[in-house]
Order: sequence, then structure tokens, then C-alpha cells
Amino acid sequence: MASEQEEFLFADQDSTHDSQDTVSAYWDVLVVDDDPEIHSVTKLALSGVEFWGRALKFHHAYSGKEALEVLSQHPEICILLLDVVMESDDAGLSVVKKVRDEFGNYAVRIILRTGQPGYAPEEKVIREYDINDYKMKTELTRGKLVTSLLTAIRSYQQICELEQQSLALTNILEASHAILGHTDMPSFGLSVVNQLAKILGSEPHGLVAGAIEKDAKVLVFGGTQPYLTHIGQGLEQIDNGRVIMQVQNCFDMDAHQQTDHDVTFLLQGKNRRAAIYLEVAEPPNAAQMQFAEIFLTNVSVGLDNIKLINELRDVAYKDALTRLPNRANFVDQIAQYCQPEQDRLVFVLIDIAQFSDINNGLGQEVGNLLLLAVKERLQQECPQGELLSRIGADVFGVLLPKQSFDETLFLDALTVPYQVGEHVLTMHFHIGVCCQSDFSQQGLETLKLAYIALNQAKQARQTLNWYSSDLEEKMAWRLGLIRQLRQDFEQRKLEVWYQPQLCLQSEAVIGCEALLRWPTGKGDYISPAVFVPLAEDAGLIVEIGQWVLEQACVMQKQLSSLGHDISVAVNVSVPQFKVSNYAQQVKQTILDHDVEPQKIELEVTESVVMDEINTVVHTLSELKSFGVEVAIDDFGTGFSSLSYLQKLPLARLKIDRAFVKGIPHEDSGAIAELVTSLGRHLGLKTIAEGVETQEQVDILRALGCDEVQGFFFAKPMAEADLLAYLKS
Ligand code: C2E
Ligand code: MG
Ligand code: MG
Repeated sequence: MASEQEEFLFADQDSTHDSQDTVSAYWDVLVVDDDPEIHSVTKLALSGVEFWGRALKFHHAYSGKEALEVLSQHPEICILLLDVVMESDDAGLSVVKKVRDEFGNYAVRIILRTGQPGYAPEEKVIREYDINDYKMKTELTRGKLVTSLLTAIRSYQQICELEQQSLALTNILEASHAILGHTDMPSFGLSVVNQLAKILGSEPHGLVAGAIEKDAKVLVFGGTQPYLTHIGQGLEQIDNGRVIMQVQNCFDMDAHQQTDHDVTFLLQGKNRRAAIYLEVAEPPNAAQMQFAEIFLTNVSVGLDNIKLINELRDVAYKDALTRLPNRANFVDQIAQYCQPEQDRLVFVLIDIAQFSDINNGLGQEVGNLLLLAVKERLQQECPQGELLSRIGADVFGVLLPKQSFDETLFLDALTVPYQVGEHVLTMHFHIGVCCQSDFSQQGLETLKLAYIALNQAKQARQTLNWYSSDLEEKMAWRLGLIRQLRQDFEQRKLEVWYQPQLCLQSEAVIGCEALLRWPTGKGDYISPAVFVPLAEDAGLIVEIGQWVLEQACVMQKQLSSLGHDISVAVNVSVPQFKVSNYAQQVKQTILDHDVEPQKIELEVTESVVMDEINTVVHTLSELKSFGVEVAIDDFGTGFSSLSYLQKLPLARLKIDRAFVKGIPHEDSGAIAELVTSLGRHLGLKTIAEGVETQEQVDILRALGCDEVQGFFFAKPMAEADLLAYLKS
């Protein structure tokens, strides 16, 4: 015991000089007193004392000032045995204030000692400055000192632990904060590894791996090098068997795995599983593992959030059927391709023509399969394609290298028939192409440009069209015109004029054709050849057409009442004919106006009758059985096949004025003759339009044409003028 004591004292004597040694092997006690005797008495009284296997190590100071110096050099000091009265009456108390307020040392325990009871500090000071104990120097017996020290050291330990914990908690909070807000797996994974390493006091080397869906393959989500390069790959791809094994063990055993070199944490979720692998220099202690657990719950939340965010992003940015980026995504992404001076790419916008016919005719299932087939074709034929997206129901978009983009090859590849279930479908397309140099900073604007080209292709009945800025001007002009047309139609500013039709034999007026007129308000008219196609595109023609039919009925009624027993022909556009119950609607209008059905004739173009044979035959038969006759307008300009024509319940063929115009000089009248004989063959009447000269009249009469219409007899004229014309 004595020798131990010697050693202890020896060690003590050096203590003020060697500062940093073996902090944890002792309890460091600083004795502060201006009376050297108190120092030796204290040391003596406490000699040989150990608490929890740790001896005491004494430091000495003889004034308040010195005490502060020693304390600042020895932060490991845990107990202060402090005299109150030294160089001044309250030197001890000012040491307390400085230690707490200025040094910020709240851990060191302080036992105040005083010789005179009169110098007892106020209770307030004891409370405020967290003083452990207050003793009279007369109480310096070994027993009392030991108890006092024991309490103080225990309290010191608790405070240190709490401080550690609160530091660790702050770490966890910071770590959790750091991993929140990552919405993509790689940056989340990296952050998780970094933060976990911080908590475990190790270097950040590791990875996060797992499967976000139930039973899915285990992938590398993220981590530090060298795993970064494997993000998104299967775990088995990484070049480290140990990591693979630990992660696998983790999943197989349903528990964290810990070795001397690494820790692998398991993150169990409802439908997903994940593991974090981290290299460590030494195995983490129990407390670190506890803190890691707390952190892991936050990682779990983060993982679930990322899954949710990805799902939401998927819904918002992926087309559910084709799994391609959708329109919103495309618009977002295309913007980054707008680079000054760059003209490397073309944006190709592809619209499947008559897709709705497939959907309606063969069913949505087949429609869906066709869309998938078109997607696959595009992927196959354009391996260098970027940003392939589904922009609309039947519209795809893709960026292709301009240099290698060959319209013809592209179309050839695209139009190879599609095997869709049991069907082999030959599809047509409308395509708009826009060069990168025309791209806009706004994705939506770029999309608009390609659409302008696409729509232009549709209107011109072409397959492919390139965007150019004058297209846009045209487009703007068209839109303006449509707006104006809609407004003028609503304000009843449109007019219907009539052009007489005559029997070639008798030269008697047998009917008239109703023709739309759109006054500009400046005394002239915009041609229906210009505005009718616009009204067709805008869907306005259905309403306008119905109105023309009503006007025609009113006119016919008036003509009959005046004794002119002639018919009125009305032009019908494709969109009107497509309205379901179209025949029924015509019937109803005629009945409402109390007109003889035989006195109303409909003029349809070949594109109308070529549309959908079954519906067309059905509608025409219904009209015919009601008594309404149908003529094919502009005959010879379309593609009607003879066998097709035979099936249709028609009344007359109208020879297009293109085949009359040149007769007899530029045109021998061969086509007019052909149509006339065809009509005779099919039992249909023929009427020639655009007849302007006596010569043409004579030739047509000789060809056996039945009727004529043209400027030679009369131009289209307003209602009143027609009445006057008929009278004369
Ligand atoms: P369309 O049905 O072939 O009408 C005949 C066109 O030939 C009319 O042109 C008429 O003015 C013109 N025309 C008649 N005789 C002669 C002639 O001797 N020489 C020349 N050069 N032209 C002649 P318009 O009135 O300009 O109508 C153009 C087209 O607009 C019509 O061609 C028709 O397809 C369409 N259209 C007119 N009104 C309507 C309507 O109410 N509904 C629909 N859907 N289309 C209409
Ligand atoms: Mg016509
Ligand atoms: Mg015509």
C-alpha cells in the first residue's frame, strides 16, 4: 500500500507538466487553495483512493488566477476542490463564474471549501453555477472527502455520457437531415454511407444495395467509390465477393452482420429490402450501434420516400402503356437540346393516320398493341434515337441525328405492315420534322413547331413536312382566319349563293347548287375553296353545313311556292358525313321545312365515299330510300374504284371543271367522255361543271352529257338575283 502510495504521489508531482497523458486512466482533481497545507492534507486524506478502477491524479493551484490557467491546460480535470477566499474574498467564486460562463465548461464538478462560515456563498450562486457541494475546511476528513468526491465523480460521468449522447443525437439529426431531400437513389445512397460512417467514426467506404419492389433483383442503389460506377447494376456485378456475401447473409439471416472489418445493416421494409455495407477500422461499440439504429429508421423513411417519389414521378412522367417518357417529360427534356449554333439533330414527330379507326374498328386492345408495335419499330429502326416519347394518344416523338436522317428510308421502315395479334395492319403516318437550329428554349414551343409541320402535312395530304418559319406565319394566318370565320358565322354574316344547273338538251334550269359566300365586309368575298378546308379542320363545318342545308330547304320551299319546280344541291364535307345519324339529321331537317326530299340533292366528294365503305353505303341507302339524291362532286380527281362505285346508291356524277376547262384546245375532252360513258354504264346522270363557252356546251352535248353548270349560263348569285334570273 505504501509503495503504491509513493508511486501515486510521484505520478502526481509531474502531473502539472505532462498535460495530455492517459486522460482516461485517472480522475483528474484540481486542488485550489492559497494555503499549501490544505493541499498536502487533501492529498494525504485521499491517498490510495480509487473509483471504478481509476486512481486520482492531483493538480494544484494556489490562487484563482492560477486555477484558471491549470484548467485551461487540462480539460480532463473533472473535479475542482476550490477555496472561496484567496487573493480576494470571492476569488473562488469568480473562478466558478469564469469556468462556467467563459470556458463553457459545464461538466467539471465543483466542491467549494471555506474556512469561515461567514463566507458561505449564497444559495443562489450554488444553484446558478452548478456547484456540487459546499464544505467547511474543518470537514476535511477522509471519509467526508471520499463521499463528496464519489458523488461528484458519478455526477461528472453522467454529465459526460449525456453530453456524448447529445452530441451523437445531434450527429444523427444532422445525418438524417443530410439524407432527407435526396430524391434520387444515387445521391441518397452516397449520403447514407457518408453519414453512417460519421456516426460510427469510420471512413466512408461502402454501398447501399437492395430491391425496391418485392422479390425484385438486388441492385446497387448507391455508395462511395468503387461502387458508384455500379449504380443500377445487379449486386453480383461488383468486384468484391466479400460485400456480396455480407449483403446476402444480411438478407438470408434477416439480421445485421458485423465482423472486424465491416458492418452490414439490414433495412427491412414491407415490400422492399435493403442493406448498407460499411467498412470499419474497428467494430463499433454498443452505443454507436444504438445510434446507428436510430439513424437507420430515418434511412428507411428516406427509402420509402424515394420509392414513392419515383412512383409519383413515373405517373407524372411516364406513359403507362409504352413505358416511354410522356409529353410532360418530353417537354421538360427537349429544352436542354436547344443550344445556340447546334444543328446536329432533327426532332421527328410521328402521327399514326386513322388510328381511331383501328381503335373503333378492331378494339382498343388491338389499338394498344399497334402502339407498342410502332414504339418497337421506332426503337429498332432508330437505334441512335434520343428521347423517344409518346407525345399524344397516337403521336410519338424522337430526336435523330440530322446527318443520317433519310426521309424515304425512315418512311419505308415505318410503313412496313405491322403484325398486331392476328391482324396485319398497313398504317400511314403524318410526320412533322423540326431542325435543332429551330428549337426553342421552351420545350413546349419546340413541340409546337414540330406540330405546325405535322399539321401542315395533314392538311396538304402529305406524309412528311419540314418546319420552316413561313409555315408558322401561314399557321398564324390560318388561326386568325378560323377565329374570324367562327365569329362571322355566329353573327350570321355568311351567305348562301346559288348557281343554276341546266339540262343540256332543253337548256331549262333543272336545279341550282348552294355555294357558301363569306363577305369580307369590304364588298368582296373570301372563296369557299379557301375557308371551307379551314372550317373542316376546325370542326366548324358541321354546324355551318347544317345551316347551309337549312338555307337550301328554305330556298327550295320558296322556289316551289313561286312555281319553280327545281332542286337545290348542297355540298357535304367529310366531317359532316361522319356525324353519327347523319342521314337521320338530313331527313329531319327536310321534314321540318316541309320540303320534298327529291328536291334536295347532296354533293359529296370522292374522299367522302372512299372513307368507310360500310357506313357510307348504309348512310347513302338511308338517304336514297327517303328520296334524297346524292351526286359525286369533282368526279375524276379522287381515287374511286369502279367496283366501289357500283355498290353505292348514287344519282349523278359531276365532272370536275378541271376536265372541262381546257376543252377543246388543251383538252380533247377524253376524260369528260370517259366519265359520261361511265355514268351511262352505271345508270347515273352526268353533269359538267365549269362550262364557260359555247364550244364546250356543244362538245359536252355531243358526248351525251346530261346537264351543265357554269359561267356560260350563270355565275353563282345571291338569292334575290336567282329569283330574278329564273323569272326572266
Ligand atoms: P364545288 O362544289 O365544285 O362548286 C363548284 C365551284 O365551281 C364553285 O366555286 C363555283 O363558283 C365554281 N364554278 C362554277 N361554274 C364555274 C365556271 O364556269 N368557271 C369557273 N372557273 N368556276 C366555276 P366556289 O363557289 O368557289 O366553291 C368552291 C368549293 O367550295 C365548292 O366546289 C365546294 O367544294 C366548296 N363549297 C362551297 N359551298 C360549300 C358548302 O356549303 N359546303 C361545303 N362543304 N363546301 C362548299
Ligand atoms: Mg359542289
Ligand atoms: Mg365541283
